[in-house]
Amino acid sequence: MQSKATEKQVGGEKEAAGDILGAIPKVNILGFPVANMDMAETVAAVAAVLEGGIGQGMRIVTANAEILYHAYADPKLAELLHSADLIVPDGIGVVKAASRLGRPVKGRVAGVDLLWQLAAWTADKGRSIYLLGAARESVEGAAAALQAKHPALQIAGWHDGYFDEAEKERILKEIEEKRPDFLFIAMGFPAQDRFFAENRERLPVGIMMGVGGAFDALSGRVQRAPGWIQKVNLEWAYRFAQNPKRLGRIWALPQFMLAVRRQVRERS
Ligand code: UDP
Repeated sequence: MQSKATEKQVGGEKEAAGDILGAIPKVNILGFPVANMDMAETVAAVAAVLEGGIGQGMRIVTANAEILYHAYADPKLAELLHSADLIVPDGIGVVKAASRLGRPVKGRVAGVDLLWQLAAWTADKGRSIYLLGAARESVEGAAAALQAKHPALQIAGWHDGYFDEAEKERILKEIEEKRPDFLFIAMGFPAQDRFFAENRERLPVGIMMGVGGAFDALSGRVQRAPGWIQKVNLEWAYRFAQNPKRLGRIWALPQFMLAVRRQVRERS
């Protein structure tokens, strides 16, 4: 049980984190508050929360159109977004939606890029990360790529994203023991956010961020779209073309655009 002093301290920390996060400008997209910050501002906000020692158990969602649409259409998934502490616009569909709503955001904050930036900050500050999710070769490859780029980075541990209940217990124990500043989970939405929501009380991590297929890209097992494709905003199409299994999910994109169009009409 927490002592009164600890309770008060935790309450104060939550308030301080709330102040920083509350001051971030946001755009309402399908009922979800998406942060309007560029990459540097996002890293600075996350750093401020951690440096103030106030980032215990925070969750960041890097939302693309598919995630926002599923959360919009399903109240249970909506709860996973409403309970997040920060939603960033990962995906050109989200950036375009903000413009259509007359509240343009500064740009895309792609989860995999944010992960690189936060890893650089973590290495610089002598803090630590834990990687959970994806196939074993992917997560190992992602850890190796991050370590090669940032030799000072403390990687507290990593585990693939395919585990049973017994293995899950071992993973939770390891994270409890290592107490990493960041827990990056690459199991796709909603599994990654559910893992955190269901185990929040047991996860003594600073900040958790769901990063979808990022470990596949970091490890090089899945090629990221070439720079020019990213520049012409077609990375999403490249990802669908690269993995035909994803095509079964593409219907969420027109649905998302229709829902945004309805929101625009309702506003005018
Ligand atoms: N994954 C996992 N455990 C599972 C199912 C999926 O770790 O039970 C991983 C999968 O290997 C992949 C990631 O979750 O690395 C999801 O990638 P996807 O590209 O579908 O996510 P998105 O970036 O679209 O959210």
